[in-house]
Amino acid sequence: MVLRDLLLLLIGLLTASSAISQEIVNPKLKKYNKIGKLKVDTTFKQSYLDDFMVPYAEFSDLQNCRIKIKNKKLKTTMAARPNFFSVLLGKKNRRYVIVVNNDKNFEGVHLNDVPNKARIGLFAHELMHIRDYESRRLSGIMERGYQYLSKQGKIKVEQHTDSLTIAAGFGQQLYHWASYVLHDSDACEEYKAFKAEVYMSPVTILNQMEHHH
Ligand SMILES: [Zn+2]
Repeated sequence: MVLRDLLLLLIGLLTASSAISQEIVNPKLKKYNKIGKLKVDTTFKQSYLDDFMVPYAEFSDLQNCRIKIKNKKLKTTMAARPNFFSVLLGKKNRRYVIVVNNDKNFEGVHLNDVPNKARIGLFAHELMHIRDYESRRLSGIMERGYQYLSKQGKIKVEQHTDSLTIAAGFGQQLYHWASYVLHDSDACEEYKAFKAEVYMSPVTILNQMEHHH
């Protein structure tokens, strides 16, 4: 009866392992959807993703980067940053994260309230941060981190990112975003004042767009 016992044991093991693997593929446990090298938090709204894909589809250089989009509590609407440890592993292993604010008490701009055209401008801007990081080595990425510690540094980085966005052909959408934040959003005055100081103004964006034609 040894063979029969072995057979039963084998069936038992197969049943148990299939039960375990069923638990692993349980949709509740699946955190990210994959679109090529892009990983998107499963809780990220489809309407946001549709807007994100408008600039993303244009930037073939960034489609080769490992980018993850996830929700998090932040002090801004969105942010793009390299994964610190991956930067130490060399350029080929670099990974990036785009974080989207899901803090309901945030007094700035909530992605949900932003009109599509402006949202596309914001996504294009975040992607340009990644293009900027991609053009830098470890020391250059550390320089960016250092610049973020002061307001003067922030102004430099954000204005540069805005010009990259215009050069990439998303000036019109960036203009909508900048003007929405300052004139139409429900953000508190303090936040608007900060935005006006650090980022390119709607008028400056229009002027820069003229220079690109
Ligand atoms: Zn930025």
